[in-house]
Amino acid sequence: MTFPRRIDLRSDTVTQPDEAMRVAMSAAEVGDDVLDHDPTMRRLEQEAAALLGMGAALWVPSGTMGNLIALMHHLERGDRYLAPRAAHVLEAELGSGAWLAGGMPQPLEWSGGPGRVSPEDLRTHLGGGAPYYALRTRLLCLENTHNFAGGAVTPPDEHAKLVALAAEAGLRVHLDGARLWNASVALGVPPAALTVGVDTVQVCLSKGLGAPVGSLVCGSELFIAQARRLRKMLGGGVRQGGVLAAAGLLALGRIPELATDHANATALADGLAELGWQVGKPETNIVIAAVPDTGYALAGLDKLGVAAVAVPGGVRFVTHRDVSAADIAEVLDRIRSAAERSAAVTAG
Ligand SMILES: *Cc1c(COP(=O)(O)O)cnc(C)c1O
Repeated sequence: MTFPRRIDLRSDTVTQPDEAMRVAMSAAEVGDDVLDHDPTMRRLEQEAAALLGMGAALWVPSGTMGNLIALMHHLERGDRYLAPRAAHVLEAELGSGAWLAGGMPQPLEWSGGPGRVSPEDLRTHLGGGAPYYALRTRLLCLENTHNFAGGAVTPPDEHAKLVALAAEAGLRVHLDGARLWNASVALGVPPAALTVGVDTVQVCLSKGLGAPVGSLVCGSELFIAQARRLRKMLGGGVRQGGVLAAAGLLALGRIPELATDHANATALADGLAELGWQVGKPETNIVIAAVPDTGYALAGLDKLGVAAVAVPGGVRFVTHRDVSAADIAEVLDRIRSAAERSAAVTAG
């Protein structure tokens, strides 16, 4: 049996720039960003900094580069940095925090809930009073939403406690906010409510907001001056970047639309649960289902024209602006029919 259309739930990064975005890109006012600071880049950076309550922002080609620039800025060789277990900076950035920023990674258990460290537990990892030969703990990395914990949200009061503890111990704080927009929509608070007290934050435009390329790394004016040098060093200085920034500006206006992705994720999770799948309640746009054999499950879904990805012990589905509520109903229909067919075969 073949299905005409593949429904791609691997990631919100598969979103395509739509017509309005392509028009904005083609009309963008541009200049040489390395020499003069491209005017559309400048507008995007100013808008993003204001939206996030940060001093300044710098466009970067990827979230990975944004995180790396922050880590390179904060860490000296051998400095320890803390992050919740399975954080993107620990698991999905090729070890660049160690390799290129020279840091010593320390994963922290999810003592405060999925993807979250409790303040009590964080307190025991802050260093302080250690002998001279101990590692120096320099940086706390937070991730909101936490990707591999299924898009888990950290609320502002809990965020404030973690940041206050880090500050007391003299640690800097970097927030990996690739999907901070999703957290802000889920909580009904402005994005700036979730960056309080952080030194630096990285946010993605290329995920649920639908821009083809781009992230922003934000911090103080002083940090941004250094970040611009680091970006150039890493090969991320671009010329007429305004073509990409124009898409980013449109993307920033689409934050409220993420609520649709969240509703679709809930519908998917509820439907899968009804079909007997073991699935957690999504907090945002990521659904993780536990399966006994990940490869088998993904191959079965692939045959049904449904694309997902593997996570440890399960499969991950991500809803996004290029899948509709009808698409989610279609996914559930295909899975239901396949289960009925195989039950018929077993019974027969
Ligand atoms: C996607 C993601 C990144 C990296 O973004 P890229 O643009 O893919 O490099 C960083 N952190 C988290 C939590 C992410 O989900």
